[in-house]
Amino acid sequence: MTGIEISRMHFPVTTLGPGSRIGIWFQGCSIRCPGCISADTWAVGRGRTTVSEVVRGIMPWLVRADGLTISGGEPFDQPEALAALLKETRSHLDGNVLVYSGHPLEYIEKHLSAMDGLIDALITDPFVMSETDRLALRGSDNQRLHLLTERGCREFSHFMKEPGPRRFDVMLDAEGEVWMAGIPGRTDFENLRKVLGKQLQTFTVTQDRSNPRPRAQR
Ligand code: SF4
Repeated sequence: MTGIEISRMHFPVTTLGPGSRIGIWFQGCSIRCPGCISADTWAVGRGRTTVSEVVRGIMPWLVRADGLTISGGEPFDQPEALAALLKETRSHLDGNVLVYSGHPLEYIEKHLSAMDGLIDALITDPFVMSETDRLALRGSDNQRLHLLTERGCREFSHFMKEPGPRRFDVMLDAEGEVWMAGIPGRTDFENLRKVLGKQLQTFTVTQDRSNPRPRAQR
């Protein structure tokens, strides 16, 4: 039984790859990019479960999803869990698989042979606040999109250089916490605060780097 630490799972997510996707965010990140908007996913030792439990949890979504996006946190900080999750999931999923990593490709290549054919598109490299943020699916333009399968080439090649509209899904979870999935632009938190402040006087949105609310997941 393979253990895994997970921050969150959600369906549908429409801003992290084509179509309506399942999103799985790993818990724990050793990279700790300055300016990261998902700092709540850095700590290890939270969200412990097993890969089988995660697959059981997303099973009802798998038949309806256009794809699966795995992000974090840092998925490659748990390489065995990531490989096991991809193997167990892939046979039930008709759609494509996109995985995010903050590590350079050269650093995680040693793990990719165990995931051969299981990842269609891979985004690598850390978030760099001082970089521009024009490219689709990426938080900063230094991040590279790698197309690892024929399907990845077919379904993700238009994201290679395409300027991406800054889009994110805003959701309210069962605990009443506002959170986001997607790649917000650098000023989007402030704009969201203004919009919500105007439309819903009693609603407050705060963004504290150590305890970010709204929580944004890339
Ligand atoms: S942007 Fe990603 S890789 Fe960088 S610190 Fe945040 S979760 Fe980790």
